[in-house]
Amino acid sequence: MDYQGFFRKQLDGLRQEGRYRVFADLERHAGDFPRATRHQGGKTDQVTVWCANDYLGMGQHPAVLAAMHEGIDRCGAGAGGTRNIAGTNHYHVILEQELADLHGAEAALLFNSGYMSNWASLETLASRLPGCMVLSDELNHASMIEGIRHSRAERRIWAHNDVADLRRKLADLDPDRPKLIAFESVYSMDGDIAPIKEICDVADEFGAMTYLDEVHAVGLYGPRGGGIAEREGLSARLTVIEGTLAKGFGVVGGYIAGSAAMCDFIRSFASGFIFTTSMAPACAAAAIASIKHLKVSAVERDRMHNRVALLRARLTAMGVPHLDNPSHIVPVMVGDPVQCKRISDRLLDHYGIYVQPINYPTVPRGTERLRITPSPLHTDADIDLLVGALSTIWSELSLKRAA
Ligand SMILES: *Cc1c(COP(=O)(O)O)cnc(C)c1O
Repeated sequence: MDYQGFFRKQLDGLRQEGRYRVFADLERHAGDFPRATRHQGGKTDQVTVWCANDYLGMGQHPAVLAAMHEGIDRCGAGAGGTRNIAGTNHYHVILEQELADLHGAEAALLFNSGYMSNWASLETLASRLPGCMVLSDELNHASMIEGIRHSRAERRIWAHNDVADLRRKLADLDPDRPKLIAFESVYSMDGDIAPIKEICDVADEFGAMTYLDEVHAVGLYGPRGGGIAEREGLSARLTVIEGTLAKGFGVVGGYIAGSAAMCDFIRSFASGFIFTTSMAPACAAAAIASIKHLKVSAVERDRMHNRVALLRARLTAMGVPHLDNPSHIVPVMVGDPVQCKRISDRLLDHYGIYVQPINYPTVPRGTERLRITPSPLHTDADIDLLVGALSTIWSELSLKRAA
């Protein structure tokens, strides 16, 4: 077998479809987000980033950086082991207490990323509960799908955010069978929000557990940044709340929160928790500072929502088509992978604006888009430049405007 030839042919296929991924080589400027230096072909230029998931700019917050520096000075670079073998740092313990408090839960459990927390927790729950049936929203994130798949448990996919469909599927099942409903609060590509209360109601009716991914909501919603469930007073109704420390909190890592017995169960049985070196203590220190800050400060959240509203209004005024939704995510719809990449390239090359094109398989074919994430740090002038540039490109490429 010509192994190298096989690799090259597969990559050529992606290029022909217009969905070969090219990474922007960036140096973010701490203290000056959303500005960054882009490296390309030995040259550099300055760009404004409009697609980061560091939604609140906490990745440069002085309190977060100070905590991270202190963590390095006190505990060094790495954690030194898995949690079980010399790798439980005091910062991990404090961080888990902070997270449990954030969600009003008995306990929390830390992972190295949100991806790992979904993968390991869903895999462990669904494989260890005898005869477990997983009911998974059709638009769940890849990390949830991988965890469910790996559990080898039986699963039913319910129509996105469709409680009637979920209810029908639950009603079909043996009442005594363990059931796990897996879904997200804010869906990251369309920016729509799940009917959490209604889902909890049917879960209770049929005796199912609920697993909610709040990755795109923690830090951003709720009076203390506890997510959509906190905002709606529903935190206590969920069996598992899963989140990330990498997006709204601006650092790195993932977690689950829930009952002490459930967290202890995952801690004790999840391979993806047990057999990996724990998070660097300085990262845990930084995450603690970020969570503590966002529990008492709404300044960043309010300013972000203000920027989102302004950008939406300006796009509407210019007829640049964007998906309306109740969240902070602004998807500008293009519907073609080649055009989507072309717009993104022009924004970057002519205007110093960086918005990554989003293509299949991240979104369905024909719904290719630019996913714009305004932060508290984007100025009115940044918004003017972005909307003006998009409007010009829309004319240059003869793209259809919204009515
Ligand atoms: C990004 C993402 C994750 C993974 O979180 P990381 O901390 O980046 O690994 C999980 N779920 C959803 C819905 C996501 O968008």
